[in-house]
Amino acid sequence: MTETKYIFVTGGVVSSLGKGIISSSIGKLLQARGYNITIQKFDPYINIDPGTLNPYEHGECYVTVDGMETDLDLGHYERFTGIQTTKANSMTTGRIYKSVIDKERRGDYLGKTIQVVPHITDEIKRNIKQLGLKHNYDFVITEIGGTIGDIESAPFLEAIRQLKWELGKKAINLHLTYVPYLNAAGELKTKPTQHSVKELQSVGIQPDILVMRTEKHLGEDIRKKVAAFCNVDLDCVVQSEDLPSIYEVPINMQQQGLDAAILRKCGEEVKPTPELGPWKEFLDRRNRATEEVNIGLVGKYDLQDAYKSIRESLSQAGTYNDHKTVIHFVNSEELTKDNVEEKLEGLDGVMICPGFGQRGIEGKIVAAHYTRTHDIPTFGICLGMQMIVTEFARNVLGYADANSREFDEKTPHNVIDIMEEQKNITNMGGTMRLGAYECVIRQNSRACNIYKQEYIQERHRHRYEFNNDYEKEFERNGMLCVGRNPESDLVEIVEIPSLKWYIGTQFHPEYQSTVLKPHPLFLDFIKTAIENKKK
Ligand code: GLN
Repeated sequence: MTETKYIFVTGGVVSSLGKGIISSSIGKLLQARGYNITIQKFDPYINIDPGTLNPYEHGECYVTVDGMETDLDLGHYERFTGIQTTKANSMTTGRIYKSVIDKERRGDYLGKTIQVVPHITDEIKRNIKQLGLKHNYDFVITEIGGTIGDIESAPFLEAIRQLKWELGKKAINLHLTYVPYLNAAGELKTKPTQHSVKELQSVGIQPDILVMRTEKHLGEDIRKKVAAFCNVDLDCVVQSEDLPSIYEVPINMQQQGLDAAILRKCGEEVKPTPELGPWKEFLDRRNRATEEVNIGLVGKYDLQDAYKSIRESLSQAGTYNDHKTVIHFVNSEELTKDNVEEKLEGLDGVMICPGFGQRGIEGKIVAAHYTRTHDIPTFGICLGMQMIVTEFARNVLGYADANSREFDEKTPHNVIDIMEEQKNITNMGGTMRLGAYECVIRQNSRACNIYKQEYIQERHRHRYEFNNDYEKEFERNGMLCVGRNPESDLVEIVEIPSLKWYIGTQFHPEYQSTVLKPHPLFLDFIKTAIENKKK
């Protein structure tokens, strides 16, 4: 196959239907058939990227290897397919407009009036097609954020309409809708689906595939009715029932022949359905695990999506250790010296989460102190690592006023400091230390034994760093700086080897943990937490 095919995934009726999971599942299934695929997300908001958004607005911010701050759906794409995403996989209305406006200022449009159609829509189309050409992909799956009918989505829908027209069979639309169950009537209702499809048709898009999210099984009669009312082939009407885990979705979609329907619609030969061997083994192992390992998540956002990648990484690592990871959110704003014992009681390991800003940091320090002095396996990521370091400086090195420059500009003991190149930054967006950087790990350190290699690359998202002036003092007192950037000498990993598992990383390992390739740090952390439990 040479020509790239495009699958546009839209959603209707309500938001949060799981377009990201469906897109990832399709990616997984096509990949299993040997196709070279990629998944792209368009978000209809004006922000250039979600980097400056509060997690309460949009959940976690996911970071690509090339340093783009993106929507958390890109995390699902990588976890499902194991394929790395880049800047080109994440677009927002803001970026599209910025690019068009920059071109206008450069004079690229030669005196034309710049309009939503054709200039914005052309820019959207260009970004979709360009990704296809980039690595000669067989399929580009493009997920359109938002819900059909939103004012913001209109230019994206117009771009899809045009592409479908231009590319014929090489471009299809998969529309995800919701079928509610009315308890009082005891009925499943397809009307919202019909209306949502009408809305799509009214902008000139005929969906090729319909996936209906539902909490109850939909019978053949309902599928037939929807097919007839929406002009969609019966084998292209699929249901996505609630499942115990998002990782069951690809299997469920395959059983209903979604991948085969997509191929048929695109005019591709449909070969026999492939086995999803390792994926199924992962699920079997996950379902077999009954014993629990209890992990505390010390952070300030009491919202599932805020620490999505960390939660998924912990959960995957549980499966590979034949345990169910049970995550207990511990609100760092409520954590004090007086209640820490009670709040962390019964936990086999503690994760100190990343974050920005003052709120909740003292609680993270209290947690780090408790777990260090009680030898509870502890993993600090980014701000979590910085708080582990601050706690150590305060209570072991004896600098009661030790702090990060982020929280106390005047502290004489700035064990975490701002990087030189960050000092004069005025724009907040996209200016942190972002994306993958190299790290060299000290031989025979715990981290090196876990990674089983000295040279690694991990992704970053921060402005502040360990202050190397204090390195010797930390080392003399038992906290070792075992990972560093070979060029800048910045500290990337700290550990206390005398404890069971006490490691902090300046980088975010959670962005690299996938279903079939779980991250070694998470695997070892959970393994140690399980051993800790047994003792
Ligand atoms: N606020 C810290 C910094 O900017 C940590 C960031 C994070 O946890 N991602 O360095």
